[in-house]
Amino acid sequence: MQQYKLFINGEWVDSGTGETFDDVNPATLETIAKLQKASVDDVSRAVESAEGAFDSWSGTPAPLRGKILFRAARMLEERKEQLARLMTQEMGKILKETRGDVQEAIDITYYAAGEGRRLLGETTPSELPDKFCMTTRRPIGVVGLITPWNFPIAIPAWKIMPALIYGNTIVFKPASDTPLLSIGLVKILTEAGLPKGVLNLVIGEGSIVGGAIVNNKNIKAISFTGSVETGRWILSEAGKDMKRVSLELGGKNPIIVMDDADLNLAIDGVLWGAFGTTGQRCTAASRVIVHEEILPAFQKKFIERTKKLKLGNGLDETTDMGPVINNLQLQKIAKYVNIGKEEGATLVLGGRTAKPLPGYFFEPTIFTDVTSDMRIAQEEIFGPVLSLISAVSLDEAIDIANSVVYGLSSSIYTGNIKNAFKAIEKLDTGITYINAPTIGAEIHLPFGGTKATGNGTREAGTTAIEEFTEIKTVYFDYSGRLQKAQIDVE
Ligand code: NAP
Repeated sequence: MQQYKLFINGEWVDSGTGETFDDVNPATLETIAKLQKASVDDVSRAVESAEGAFDSWSGTPAPLRGKILFRAARMLEERKEQLARLMTQEMGKILKETRGDVQEAIDITYYAAGEGRRLLGETTPSELPDKFCMTTRRPIGVVGLITPWNFPIAIPAWKIMPALIYGNTIVFKPASDTPLLSIGLVKILTEAGLPKGVLNLVIGEGSIVGGAIVNNKNIKAISFTGSVETGRWILSEAGKDMKRVSLELGGKNPIIVMDDADLNLAIDGVLWGAFGTTGQRCTAASRVIVHEEILPAFQKKFIERTKKLKLGNGLDETTDMGPVINNLQLQKIAKYVNIGKEEGATLVLGGRTAKPLPGYFFEPTIFTDVTSDMRIAQEEIFGPVLSLISAVSLDEAIDIANSVVYGLSSSIYTGNIKNAFKAIEKLDTGITYINAPTIGAEIHLPFGGTKATGNGTREAGTTAIEEFTEIKTVYFDYSGRLQKAQIDVE
């Protein structure tokens, strides 16, 4: 059994704890690797290493940093299939989706590499003569990146690549359920020529290793994707040191299906949005708000389609839905199914664990007669459980959609352009799709949400620069005399 170490200052090193933990395939329950658990001291060493590398890396011209990323992107392309297969074994989602996950990492790596020649500032006229005004971008310093298990390479790449191109150095902690893809990513970046110390990988328990990153005074910014509970704790802890924090948290994403929608298109979309990645996407659709006129027809057809989904090993190309990530998550889903029944919702499909293989499988599950005040319609379940909610009008559907604490993604199926624009305007989410499900973000657009989904920051695309740079405003006076702004302007 292969045992993996930590990556600090350009070397694979033993952890200080001497302890290991198992990486388990959630479909088969086979242990696929052993990982060393980092200690708080290991995190300190990783931070020192990142601090040591900062001057040289931030002083490297951004287009040269970009060259390393271009090489890494090509290597990711070459290893796409191998990484996708490993990901399916490590976290269970089907090959089609794990290939997509790796592709997202490839896309963001190319995009960030290109940013090396596009690190733009602003110039603007001064109010005084012979004076030049501009802004430039500087890296923040050592940044701490903490990621979840549901996109084991895409989310790390979303954070690592922009952080690198803008000149930061990194201490990175992936989820304990999916460390192997992060190891693969670190190896690629190292082979692509990333200097030692620039990227450090520490693996281990969230509250200990993640907590040590959050509390380390020499880390200047934290980028975190995960649950609201952890995000809230990070925000309050990191706030004590005035760290910059960017949070991408949970969702309870609605799809509205209007009476003028293309029903078959909507059913295709809801099926993919609700049960893709076994419902374990932050953007997964967990509520479908259907116009009452078409609810019976929608429900009948949708149940028929859902019944056909095949559960199994994601490595089998005929599988539609893999397992959930671990036993804790399986128990949480089962608990919410009971809550739904107790609340008076009608369970029309699924609701039970399944055993196509020894692992953590749960049947695709549909509740009807759900009202928006029920817990199953309010709380993030993060599994293949969908609530169907009836609405009499678009206004009511939007009110229901907005009635949750989250605000990540939303969608509307409609043939009416007025409905579409009203939804764009009124749905209180960071992302809205028209005639497409709530999942499917592209890397060159900002990603993030409103309300409890985060703290207002956006990742990826054109907004990644805000996450990982400081703005420097420069006033360059070449008049040769003292000129006073606001005073000498008459
Ligand atoms: P989580 O429990 O919050 O864990 C996320 C990461 O934080 C893991 O690396 C975890 O380490 C670490 N962690 C746990 N406790 C910590 C602490 N006290 N201090 C610092 N780090 C800590 O979330 P999860 O269950 O893995 O992920 C699912 C959640 O992520 C869902 O709510 C989902 O909606 C959200 N998510 C959001 C987005 C988005 O972009 N909005 C994308 C994907 C997922 P361990 O793995 O070692 O526990």
